[in-house]
Amino acid sequence: MTPKIARYLADNQPATPCLILDVDRMEDNFRAIRRALPLARVYYAVKANPARPILERLVKLESSFDAASFEEIAACMEAGAAPAAISYGNTVKKVSAIRAAHAAGVTMFAFDSAEELEKLAEHAPGARVYCRILVGNEGADWPLSRKFGTTVELARDLMTRAAGMGLDPYGLSFHVGSQQTATATYEAAIGKVGMLFTDLKDAGVNVRMVNLGGGFPIRYRDEVPGIDAFGDAIMHAMTECFGNALPEMVIEPGRSVVGSAGLVCAEVVLVSRRDPADPVRWVYLDIGRFGGLAETEGEAIKYQFTTEHDGGETGPVALAGPTCDGADILYERSNYRLPLALRSGDQVQIRAAGAYVTTYASQSFNGFAPLAEHYI
Ligand SMILES: *Cc1c(COP(=O)(O)O)cnc(C)c1O
Repeated sequence: MTPKIARYLADNQPATPCLILDVDRMEDNFRAIRRALPLARVYYAVKANPARPILERLVKLESSFDAASFEEIAACMEAGAAPAAISYGNTVKKVSAIRAAHAAGVTMFAFDSAEELEKLAEHAPGARVYCRILVGNEGADWPLSRKFGTTVELARDLMTRAAGMGLDPYGLSFHVGSQQTATATYEAAIGKVGMLFTDLKDAGVNVRMVNLGGGFPIRYRDEVPGIDAFGDAIMHAMTECFGNALPEMVIEPGRSVVGSAGLVCAEVVLVSRRDPADPVRWVYLDIGRFGGLAETEGEAIKYQFTTEHDGGETGPVALAGPTCDGADILYERSNYRLPLALRSGDQVQIRAAGAYVTTYASQSFNGFAPLAEHYI
């Protein structure tokens, strides 16, 4: 928790569940990423947290933006971003959204299929396009594999045809999966995409950019390598691949920009012991899978919890949300322990919850309103 968040909590005691996000801490994270990879242009992945105060601060910092929908593009522009600083990075776009983005002045678009490339040629003529390649996601707690990206062979074919279709064959991209803890996965992806880049260049295609995606991890319950380890590994692999003829580099961090800047405050609704002989207590919070903690699906993202009883004796717990849905369980198998003194009404804080929480909250399943948001 940052001192600013601690002060805000003490002064305001906001109703729970809520997110409190320290925008200065977000700026520090952004600067650290930029320092770790000074040759890469940073396109903030808007989906991680599209709140206006975040976008406005990033505009001030001269960030660019990776948007997944026309709505996200509009949000960036309302926050002051120039259309030239926005990449439409979703490989799955409605024609109406492509047309709206093109009309708004966005010139950079992703694709990973023949049909999407044809849609772009027709509805965003002249656009700079980049092809997403399927790469390994080993080491990612929240993988994205299979759904996006194409083979090197199809990418070569599509990139070769793009210029003839009136598009600018600008670059290649990949994404190694989110909360990616293995630097080697970036290195392997760069090797794969770098070879294709060189082949295309040799074949006369005017390809200029490599987009390394996001995925940089943050500390939840377990320690992860720092951003500098990823910066070093990436620059090492890029230099191996391209020597001193480095292409333009793009990164699209989301989680690593906003995650550690946010704290979710929740309340214990119930502590229940099903059987006196069972050491495991069920702890129900006022936020769960449908309240924004969607990334606990499969117990993939393991948040860190703090309570006012920390330091006292602990026991094993299962953690769940407040709704009547059986899927609304956060953790049953991940060996969480919480203080034995924990009771209903106690506050629980969920650390590093600034990314992928607010927009994942359901509208009002079971009548529960989405969590409140405080940007300070
Ligand atoms: C989600 C996403 C990102 C951001 O990933 P993080 O793991 O949050 O850094 C970047 N690029 C694309 C294309 C994405 O879909």
